[in-house]
Amino acid sequence: MPLSTDVNLPRNHDAVFPDRCVRCDRITHGNKMRLRTHSITWLTSLLMVFGKPFTVHIPVCQTCASAIRNRELFSFLSCITVAGLTMFFVWPRVAHFVPEAISQWVAVGLILFTLLPFFLFSIFKPPAFDITAYPDSVDYEFRCADYAKSFAELNEDAEWVKTE
Ligand SMILES: [Zn+2]
Repeated sequence: MPLSTDVNLPRNHDAVFPDRCVRCDRITHGNKMRLRTHSITWLTSLLMVFGKPFTVHIPVCQTCASAIRNRELFSFLSCITVAGLTMFFVWPRVAHFVPEAISQWVAVGLILFTLLPFFLFSIFKPPAFDITAYPDSVDYEFRCADYAKSFAELNEDAEWVKTE
């Protein structure tokens, strides 16, 4: 069970945020940062192909903007490093036992397996804010349940607001 509070809104809804930092809850005085992701579709789980990009501007103070960017950069570099080390050190020992026809799939599975600790870390120690975009909706994921509640109330005029 994820430890963030997720608010699902229609993708075409222009989400309204409280005028407070998503990370530290201080007043932001209009300061925002842009977050961008790609949609997850049924092709993503099969072929690692992502859909249309989705961008949102979130209220954040300058201190937290740096922290959020650093966490994103650290996560990205960590994943690249682990994937690279896996392919360099582990894959050569495994490749002899894998039939040629499925070797790419096994390699992808091996990388995903070695990244499992990162996925678990992001579930049990979620970032202050994250987004997951789907073709028709977006999950706005908040570590702070009170902030998520305020966000959901501000967007009550959306076609739907699902909180979990
Ligand atoms: Zn802040």
